[in-house]
Amino acid sequence: MGTSTGFSVAIAGAGLSGLCLAQYLTRAGIDVHVYERDPGPFVRQQGYRIILDRHGLEALRESLPRPLYRLALETGDEPGGHLRFTDSSLRNAFTITFKDEPHATRQVDRLTLRSILMSGLDGRIHYGKAAAAVDGGGPSGLRLRFADGAAVAATVVVGADGVGSPLRAQLTPGADPANTPMAGVYGRSPLRFDGRSVIPEALRTSGVLAIADRPGRAFFFTSMRFGEDPREAFARLAPGSYAPIVDDYVMWGLLLRQEEVPAGVHGNLLALRELAARKSTGFHPVIRRLIDTAELDATVLNLFATGRRPRQWAVPRATMMGDAVHVMPPFGAHGGNTALRDAALLGRKLVEARANGTAPEEAIAAYQDEMVPYAFRAVDTAAKLMRRLTGGAAAPHWVLTRVLPRLHRVTVPEA
Ligand SMILES: Cc1cc2nc3c(=O)[nH]c(=O)nc-3n(C[C@H](O)[C@H](O)[C@H](O)COP(=O)(O)OP(=O)(O)OC[C@H]3O[C@@H](n4cnc5c(N)ncnc54)[C@H](O)[C@@H]3O)c2cc1C
Repeated sequence: MGTSTGFSVAIAGAGLSGLCLAQYLTRAGIDVHVYERDPGPFVRQQGYRIILDRHGLEALRESLPRPLYRLALETGDEPGGHLRFTDSSLRNAFTITFKDEPHATRQVDRLTLRSILMSGLDGRIHYGKAAAAVDGGGPSGLRLRFADGAAVAATVVVGADGVGSPLRAQLTPGADPANTPMAGVYGRSPLRFDGRSVIPEALRTSGVLAIADRPGRAFFFTSMRFGEDPREAFARLAPGSYAPIVDDYVMWGLLLRQEEVPAGVHGNLLALRELAARKSTGFHPVIRRLIDTAELDATVLNLFATGRRPRQWAVPRATMMGDAVHVMPPFGAHGGNTALRDAALLGRKLVEARANGTAPEEAIAAYQDEMVPYAFRAVDTAAKLMRRLTGGAAAPHWVLTRVLPRLHRVTVPEA
């Protein structure tokens, strides 16, 4: 690996941030390679939708070639829509309305976004390579070492290897994420059943967080409708790239306390779906139907954690992005957006440094100084929102589930 100028970047992890940075650097002509632990591009379903906010969209716009950015927008759901907070019978407590502007917020399918981010990176993504450690640090550069014993040389190493990052202990000692009391069982169900939408018309463009009477229990769902069929949009805008085959769907998540999750259900799809069914008996029939019709292989368990501020960056030419450094509970939809923002920021800093002849460690330090404040603001906000919506604090929970819903008419009758 290495170009005539000798500047190269090795990224661990082909998730949202790793691929976004690879796109940025490839466009700028920098030699970049991505090393992914999974044996292939789509081994895990990861079949959920993701709401991109202005930071996420801006990062994609800056990093991707124009046709790929258009592909993300055109396969995305229609702009705008609402997030409704309801009680367990889907009676409205309050509603947030999203801006109806194409570049403000946009709901996209994560699998489709990942395909878009992989487009044009042929030969630069290497599968079955689990990063294990970073060696060196002298003038001869770094080596990214893998669990299989192999290693690659690079000027800069970036850990974008997600919440379980094995590089974190070495690059930011003492900053392993803190556990939280909450967990989520996530699933995906077809949007249409017998030709009809399973989501009532009143909720067509809404995400819903239904909060149970019992503190620490809630159910989230939202539909993902592709603006354009990915197969057609890819053929037009990224011919030759892999277009995932996905139909419109409903993404849902049962939020519960970790202490309610029996040992051994991790990875047991049937047991997870049964757990979701058991713990949602008190919710509206629309919710129970979603669980009954769920696609089993898209069911996952996520134990919520919060990242800890790094106190030290131990290897000057190595850094981290995304969940590896600042994982957050999925409240407020900032995890992926912050990861994409990191990628565009680090890409910009590295490209500028190369143009000015500045040392890469200075570019990396500038990235870290800017990233830590915005990323940990997002972590703090997500953690606070989680406590407000699922914690046992009597007053807010009582207002959400008892007082506010009484002020509204029934949103979805129990037909
Ligand atoms: C159900 C759900 C819904 C969500 N909704 C939203 C949303 O609406 N908005 C939002 O902003 N965020 C959302 N998020 C969060 C978002 O998905 C993550 O924050 C985001 O994917 C983080 O990106 P990343 O690049 O840091 O890591 P990831 O996308 O997790 O990628 C990490 C990659 O590294 C690989 N890897 C792991 N270990 C190694 C290793 N040792 N060596 C090499 N590769 C390795 C993994 O296989 C993976 O491909 C949601 C999360 C979930 C679970």
